[in-house]
This record gives sequence, C-alpha cells and structure tokens, in this order.
Amino acid sequence: MMAIRELKVCLLGDTGVGKSSIVCRFVQDHFDHNISPTIGASFMTKTVPCGNELHKFLIWDTAGQERFHSLAPMYYRGSAAAVIVYDITKQDSFHTLKKWVKELKEHGPERIVVAIAGNKCDLSDIREVPLKDAKEYAESIGAIVVETSAKNAINIEELFQGISRQIPPLEPHKNG
Ligand code: GDP
Repeated sequence: MMAIRELKVCLLGDTGVGKSSIVCRFVQDHFDHNISPTIGASFMTKTVPCGNELHKFLIWDTAGQERFHSLAPMYYRGSAAAVIVYDITKQDSFHTLKKWVKELKEHGPERIVVAIAGNKCDLSDIREVPLKDAKEYAESIGAIVVETSAKNAINIEELFQGISRQIPPLEPHKNG
C-alpha cells in the first residue's frame, strides 16, 4: 500500500489570470470559456503518484477574495505549496505577482513550496511577459516556474509534478 499524503495547495494571483481554469483542467481535464467566478469557499482534490507515495492535493481557490489584494490567514494555514498565477499577456499581472509573494511571506507558513504559473501561453503572440523575466524572478525567490495553458492543457500536470518533486518524501525511497 502506498502512503497517501494530503498536501494543501493555495492559489494566488489576480482575478482573471486563470486560477479556476487551471484547477478545473488539472482536476477535471476540462476547460470552460464561461467559467463562473467562484462564490464561497471552493476546494478541489486530485491524487497523483509521486515516487513511493501518493500525493493528494487539496487545492483551495480564492473564492474571489483576491480582488481585495489580501486573503484571510486561514487561507494559507497549513499549506504545503502555493501556486501563484500571472497572465503572460498582462504585464500588470506579473507586477502584482510580486505583491502576492510578499503577502505569502508575511502571512503564509514559513516553509512552503512556491510555484509560479505563467498562464495563457496559448496566447504567446500577444505576450507581454518574457519567460526569461519570470525565470529570473523565480530563481531570485527560490520558486519553480512554468508557462501553462489551461485552455490547451499545456504544462498543467507538469506544474503539479514540479510541486510534488519539491516535497521531501516521508521515508527515503529504497532501491532494489
Ligand atoms: P481566475 O479569476 O484567476 O480564477 O480566472 P478564470 O479561471 O476565471 O479565467 C479568467 C478568464 O481567462 C476566463 O475567461 C477563462 O476562460 C480565460 N482563461 C483561463 N485560462 C486560459 C488559458 O490558458 N488560455 C486562454 N486563452 N484563456 C484562459
């Protein structure tokens, strides 16, 4: 029997960058052009294998609270990871990403895996944020970064696999 580990993941980022769409693609493999803004607390789970463990992601969506540019401390409490999303076609959303990182450092757990998702990479012909900028910034804060498209299912699995890899195993994997 593989051990199941529950990993709380909180989503951060401006309204409209595609947070709900990323979760919807990851959990249900579905994209909805008219996804309705989340009302009330929203929460989805998906379990994926990682080494000799199973990682059960408990993904918390902001329920629209991000428009106040701060979230209740309970939103972050106990999180193993945060996914901070920006929209590659909106420089503003990359600028605010840095505010979200600051907010996370102030109110989030001391040890937390930070994953940055540059979403809407299917729209790279109207890109405003170079991947190089995102990579440099991610490196400066010790975060992982990937460009995603919830619409075209690009790098969504990889985003969460990247998080899994940053979570130290409970028991070291024995070979043989
Ligand atoms: P949230 O407010 O951050 O949760 O963003 P939503 O998930 O509600 O998405 C906002 C808008 O962006 C919606 O109209 C989505 O259909 C659209 N969207 C989300 N992800 C993508 C993507 O990867 N590519 C494109 N082209 N549009 C996307």
